[in-house]
Amino acid sequence: MLSFDAARQQFLLNAAALAPAKETLPLVQLQGRVLAESVAATINVPPQDNSAMDGIAFKFSDYPADGIFPISQKIFAGMAAAALKTQTAVRLFTGSIIPEGADTVVLQEDCEFILNDKDELVSVKVLDMPKKGQHIRLAGEDIVKGAEVVAAATVLMPAHIGLLASVGIAEASVYQRLRVALLATGDELVAVGGTLQSGQIYNSNLPMLTAQLQSLGCEVDARHVDDDLALIVENLEQMAADADVVLTIGGVSVGDADWVKTAIEQLGSVQLWKVAMKPGKPVSLGEIKNKAGRVVPLIGLPGNPVSAFATFQLFALPFLQRRMGQHLPENKDECLYPIQLERPRQPKREEFVRVQLVVKNGVPVLKPYAHQGSGVLSSVAWATGFARIPADKPTENGDEVRYYVFT
Ligand code: AMP
Ligand code: MG
Repeated sequence: MLSFDAARQQFLLNAAALAPAKETLPLVQLQGRVLAESVAATINVPPQDNSAMDGIAFKFSDYPADGIFPISQKIFAGMAAAALKTQTAVRLFTGSIIPEGADTVVLQEDCEFILNDKDELVSVKVLDMPKKGQHIRLAGEDIVKGAEVVAAATVLMPAHIGLLASVGIAEASVYQRLRVALLATGDELVAVGGTLQSGQIYNSNLPMLTAQLQSLGCEVDARHVDDDLALIVENLEQMAADADVVLTIGGVSVGDADWVKTAIEQLGSVQLWKVAMKPGKPVSLGEIKNKAGRVVPLIGLPGNPVSAFATFQLFALPFLQRRMGQHLPENKDECLYPIQLERPRQPKREEFVRVQLVVKNGVPVLKPYAHQGSGVLSSVAWATGFARIPADKPTENGDEVRYYVFT
């Protein structure tokens, strides 16, 4: 049996071998997509020096002993401005450009405005000695023209989209959505909406993993078939015609009705089968050839709902993320936190315990769910991530373990 780390490495290596295709999309369609080419700024942001406050601007070296300036110009945000007349101040507002020659802003709360008898602003008395350069947002202080705004392989989030908009980017090159086929197997499974007969259960994995794939931005072809070799082979062949990746659920153990491995071997090969972990031991990685001769990677997830969720999170997810062109930070899963245990624990296989990351007396701590059975999906809904309990040494209450946050 492979170790967890070796298995994960193999999934990632396999995913890296495949380069996703690109497409160009308008800004409003970029949320959640993976940037294929880095974007550089063709302008400074902000484009010009501007005021961070409502108030007045002047040249610091003009500052008079009595603090009184005549007002020579009123500049609203969005307006062009004339150069500053010497020995004067301009009235301006947040976002107004700083006229050429001015270098200091004083907020209006620190000014006494002097009006004429027609209520027009004529001069201003500065009540507080300013600091040179204060309250000015300098051209390029956010982004300098020519600098990289967003790096390739970034998953675009609302802030990136705002940033791209701030430099005037209307469209960007992203990787195409992955088409993922998801095949659940099991005679006992009934789709929601149906009625359970004795011996049957609802198919919970298919909607759960469909949702998981959709939240990753994948297109999903989700199906369920009975434990029938011919049916499994037929559906895998059909699904592989269009899919970039095939995922199966269930049927990969060694029971009499577990046909998935045989089906994969008929259509291709299994590269990895069984990992020394709990839950999730029967996870597999392979590939099948579709009718057009294209090789499609296949990930076999075990059927127990917790195992399916765990192996999806720990193997399929990084595989798909890399396959989608995402940059995966090396140390994403290297957070260590103390775990709360009633008694020391040393599992036979590395164990991925469902835990909540909570703060106790100001300190973060991992709190395991009371019932860790691989059929107990409540543990997953309750938890925020997995704590990884090593098999090679006992873990005691308060020991630090790795934490894998759910994605
Ligand atoms: P298998 O991997 O097919 O041997 O399934 C292991 C366990 O998971 C059995 O108890 C199945 O009934 C259950 N199971 C398999 N597939 C699903 C599914 N899609 N939804 C809910 N439970 C499932
Ligand atoms: Mg089954």
